[in-house]
Amino acid sequence: MYQASTKRYDNMVYNRVGNSGLKLSALGLGLWHNFGSVDPYENQKAMIHQAFDLGITYFDLANNYGPIPGSAEENFGRIMATDMKPYRDEMIIASKAGYQMWAGPYGDWGSRKSILASADQSLKRLGLDYVDIFYSHRPDPKTPVSETALALDQLVRAGKALYIGISNYNGAQTAAITKVFNDLRTPFVIHQPRYNMFDRTIEDDLIPVLRREGKAAVSFSSLSQGLLTNKYLNGIPDNSRAAKSTSPFLHPLQVDETIRTVRQLNEVAKRRGQTLAEMALAWNLREPEIASVLIGASRPQQLVDNVKALDHLDFSSAELNEIDHILAK
Ligand code: NDP
Repeated sequence: MYQASTKRYDNMVYNRVGNSGLKLSALGLGLWHNFGSVDPYENQKAMIHQAFDLGITYFDLANNYGPIPGSAEENFGRIMATDMKPYRDEMIIASKAGYQMWAGPYGDWGSRKSILASADQSLKRLGLDYVDIFYSHRPDPKTPVSETALALDQLVRAGKALYIGISNYNGAQTAAITKVFNDLRTPFVIHQPRYNMFDRTIEDDLIPVLRREGKAAVSFSSLSQGLLTNKYLNGIPDNSRAAKSTSPFLHPLQVDETIRTVRQLNEVAKRRGQTLAEMALAWNLREPEIASVLIGASRPQQLVDNVKALDHLDFSSAELNEIDHILAK
């Protein structure tokens, strides 16, 4: 029987989510990869235990995480039932709806029909009565924003979600749905955008909106899917995501230039006494609107390594300028 470490709250940082009462661990564990039906269950369990023992309270899922779609929620639900049940009130468990999940016109996007059905399916797979945060996974250009917002609001009123989040909405889309949530008094507290050193789009677009509205963000692909680690400094190792997937993030046409940049960033990290992954996570957290950085992991040790980011969070302006300069090349 799993017994959580008694030291789990000693070193983690907990950040307030905008103007809300909610706090999130500065690092959250994402279950997009490595928690599917194709992945070893014992390793999944070990990662959840390791994360929780390190003080990570935020666990990020979505209806379609797998493969097969839905299997990450099923596996996490199994781990909850067997090991984590005593700790339910110490955990923030999130799910999402918005990407293709089941066949036909209702298994996708942001209609009332899709969101309410998807949330019920997620709760069943997770074996939970409620999730802590339920996200609209992406904006739906064809559905009125008020319909999506009302469906999310209804999840809260029905006791199926405590807080609402949105993901992949740009600044204008965020401002528009925030207005509806404000009218409804929905506890909409958080945005989940992609943010890392290689993708800074949100800095000028979304972040000012979040600041104005008193909302926070939790960043995804904070390590650029592993690029911002020491993994690819010397080529593509066999057991890495780049070797396994068809994802073009290390596309042959770009790889030399990308690796050159990664190596330069690694030199700055070394001078700071950090690994590149630690520096990349700390760099995300320097933004006051970023309450938490999501990390994916394929083994428990990566979590142990990444949490060390918290040992050195501050940056001098010279370091920030140097990073800007490297990224601008
Ligand atoms: P990351 O940028 O965190 O990359 C994760 C990968 O980085 C791991 O699988 C691992 O790769 C590698 N890695 C992590 N730590 C280390 C380390 N210390 N040393 C070496 N390699 C390391 O992000 P993801 O893109 O996976 O995103 C994280 C989470 O964000 C997802 O699980 C999901 O919850 C969420 N997300 C949300 C999206 C949305 O639309 N809302 C979209 C994408 C993600 P390897 O497997 O090769 O070992």
